[in-house]
Amino acid sequence: GKVLVSGANGYIAAWVVRTLLEQGFSVRGAVRSADKGKHLSELFASYGDKFELVVVPDITEEGAFDEAVKGVDAIEHTASPFHFAADDPAELLEPAIKGTVGILESALKWGKSVKRVVVTSSTAAVLNVSKEPQVLSDVNWNDQAVEQVNEQGRAASGAAKYQASKTLAERAAWGFVQKHKVEIAWDLSVLNPPLVLGPVIHAVSSPEALNTSAHRMYEAFTKPDATAGGGCWVDVRDLALAHVRALQKEEAGGERILIPAGAFVWQDWLDAAPPSSSSKYQKGSPGAGKDAVHLLRYDPSKGIRILGLEYRSMADTAAAVVADYEARG
Ligand code: NDP
Repeated sequence: GKVLVSGANGYIAAWVVRTLLEQGFSVRGAVRSADKGKHLSELFASYGDKFELVVVPDITEEGAFDEAVKGVDAIEHTASPFHFAADDPAELLEPAIKGTVGILESALKWGKSVKRVVVTSSTAAVLNVSKEPQVLSDVNWNDQAVEQVNEQGRAASGAAKYQASKTLAERAAWGFVQKHKVEIAWDLSVLNPPLVLGPVIHAVSSPEALNTSAHRMYEAFTKPDATAGGGCWVDVRDLALAHVRALQKEEAGGERILIPAGAFVWQDWLDAAPPSSSSKYQKGSPGAGKDAVHLLRYDPSKGIRILGLEYRSMADTAAAVVADYEARG
């Protein structure tokens, strides 16, 4: 089958494309300009015409994906801005919501052969802030961030703006499916990963140009005050496999699936890195994360049950990340 992957030049999407190709799928990667597709064409040259590009300049425009969805059997929608630097919340909300609803609309009108749409949401659409340790699951929604943005607008935190964009985009996706359920021949599967870490294969010119999550990991290894705090994580390669399985497993249809490997504090990554790694990368205070209290965790059981995921260890991910840094100098 052929799969449309939006935002194909992104950190996660490049791994999704690679994993789809490795498993025998054909891929049509949507990017904002021909230039942004160049690295992908080189990366996947060995797959010949099993990999093609389509240029979708503005995902917020009506009908933006009308051509892109024609003839594909499935869609993986990953394109959405991920950063915490927006002033006007609309900078994040518009592409997140309109991009998601737009690709579903195009699938409804022109995706005659589409059987499944997978949307990359986030635990940003799940999380809640609490003083008590909690384990959240697919029943939880981050209405807190939406309220903060509604009440405070530009004054809301950068994180709240991003989280609201993911919450509202995911709600819009489920709402669309509900509203059009008698007309659509495909179903929706939503994946909610926490912070995505691991090696990089998309085009990155310098550490500063890394995507938000990989950049944060780089800071932990290189910036003295960046080893405190933490969160929940998943390896980008495991998440890519989850995207492929979400197409393959019938039972993934209609499901919202959290994809967490575990909880960490940044120091844990320094401790998990191989001892032989270059002195360029700091060691922090080894063991300092051992007794950390993780206020927020996510229930991985649905992803394990439906997608058959087996998560990589921190040691595996840390080794791959450091090898990646060293290969790039
Ligand atoms: P990247 O920044 O590496 O990739 C984002 C992709 O989305 C790029 O292809 C980018 O295109 C595209 N995009 C961003 N803004 C727009 C816009 N306004 N219009 C059109 N396209 C746009 O991020 P990730 O790979 O990390 O993120 C991919 C998805 O995964 C997002 O939906 C994100 O919310 C989600 N996610 C990421 C997590 C993480 O830790 N990385 C965690 C949980 C979810 P261009 O290069 O042209 O800007």
